Amino acid sequence: MVIGGGFGGLKVARRLARRDVDITLIDRVNHHLFQPLLYQVGTGILAGGQIAPALRDLFVARENVRVVLAEVEAVDLEARTVTAVAGGELTLPYDILVVAAGARDSYFGHDEWERDAPGMKSLDDAFRIRTRILSAFELAETAASPAERDAWLTFVIVGAGPTGVELAGQIAYLSRHTLAGHYRSIRSEAARIILLDGAPSVLPSFRERLRGKADAELRRLGIEIRVKTTATSVDAHGIDIDGPDGADRIEAHTVLWAAGVEASPLARVLAHASGAEVDRSGRLAIAPDLTLPGHPEVFAIGDMVALEAVPGVAQAALQEGGYVAKVISSRLDGKSAPGPFHYRDKGSMAIVGRSWAVADVRGLQLAGRRAWLIWAVIHIAFLVDWQKRLEIVRRWFWEFVTHDRHERVISYVSLLPDELARAEVESVRRRLASGESGGEASGQ
Ligand SMILES: Cc1cc2nc3c(=O)[nH]c(=O)nc-3n(C[C@H](O)[C@H](O)[C@H](O)COP(=O)(O)OP(=O)(O)OC[C@H]3O[C@@H](n4cnc5c(N)ncnc54)[C@H](O)[C@@H]3O)c2cc1C
Repeated sequence: MVIGGGFGGLKVARRLARRDVDITLIDRVNHHLFQPLLYQVGTGILAGGQIAPALRDLFVARENVRVVLAEVEAVDLEARTVTAVAGGELTLPYDILVVAAGARDSYFGHDEWERDAPGMKSLDDAFRIRTRILSAFELAETAASPAERDAWLTFVIVGAGPTGVELAGQIAYLSRHTLAGHYRSIRSEAARIILLDGAPSVLPSFRERLRGKADAELRRLGIEIRVKTTATSVDAHGIDIDGPDGADRIEAHTVLWAAGVEASPLARVLAHASGAEVDRSGRLAIAPDLTLPGHPEVFAIGDMVALEAVPGVAQAALQEGGYVAKVISSRLDGKSAPGPFHYRDKGSMAIVGRSWAVADVRGLQLAGRRAWLIWAVIHIAFLVDWQKRLEIVRRWFWEFVTHDRHERVISYVSLLPDELARAEVESVRRRLASGESGGEASGQ
């Protein structure tokens, strides 16, 4: 049984599907999400389906693989069963379990900020962020006062790691190019984009030279950078911050969160059941062969585990998935297990703006177009199917030539929180039905 069809879980399932085994792959979503391109969905370049093939499609030809859409809640290590909910409750048995449930956004003990500062981990998150960004320009256009207009045209991104930098760069591009000239009472180009981080520089995990280049490029795009600065409170109208110049408040209706991650709650579930440790980010401590201590039949991989010197990136999850498939295969063949897992660092990259990137690959530090080209080739190569690769290259080419972005669908109701949206739709319907809205209603 494999829990999670992300980078780690999918790798295990695909490798083992060729063997004479029965695999149950459980995920709470029906797709494999290519998270590195999520920011392009969040900023209108790509459609959700282009980076999220259906898990069933990926295994349609493998009769030994069963895909189950359900959210896993509990694991019984003694009975060797997994409990999941999908409408009702399911209890599914396993011989070998691989848990690859990933991570979620961390609000450092302030989960209440999530409502006003959404993060970007899932497709739903990316759609929500896209709605927020595009709506902000619409609401700035009809704002009642200059202060209100400015608050709609101010975007704050908390966290200047790769995701925060990518989001800031894309919002800058969207406002300065894609949306330029589209409004009559505002200039979208005037949008203020603020990127803040508690660390002393942007892209803190990169080497100094690349950090400096990225900083300069972000400033060239007109992005305000505030380092050594932390969020102290977030609400629907802005964010309170604390930085080198003391406490401050930024009035902004759009605050996006890219500041930190914590392991899936399933890490704690496994830790509780087995007595294993979790670290401060909730990541599970596992043995060097990626098994749960005392449970050779349970593996845990990817973002939800803590391994020394192994970062929470797709490469690590993929390599761990490949390794676990190898261990299980050697058990099936009655061979001795391969040695402990070793991570091979293949480098890191981040996109700054549209076709500009920094890349640190095998000792080579690149910044600019060349780095972007390497990024593009690698990301395309890692997508799981050819059709999606072609669609994405076509979209990129179109956007590159025209600055246009296809995925910009929003509606008035989508601006409202769910409960308010339902109430608003109901009340408009009632008014129309009763004729209260007069001329408007009779004209419909
Ligand atoms: C916006 C963004 C950009 C990124 N960019 C890059 C990048 O450029 N390069 C890079 O190397 N890495 C990048 N990463 C990190 C990379 O995506 C992760 O390290 C990688 O996805 C980890 O793989 P995983 O298998 O551990 O988890 P995931 O790929 O997150 O998969 C976890 C799966 O488990 C499922 N799941 C979770 N809980 C449950 C449950 N209770 N029941 C059932 N299913 C469950 C989820 O739905 C998901 O499908 C990025 C991450 C994000 C969020």
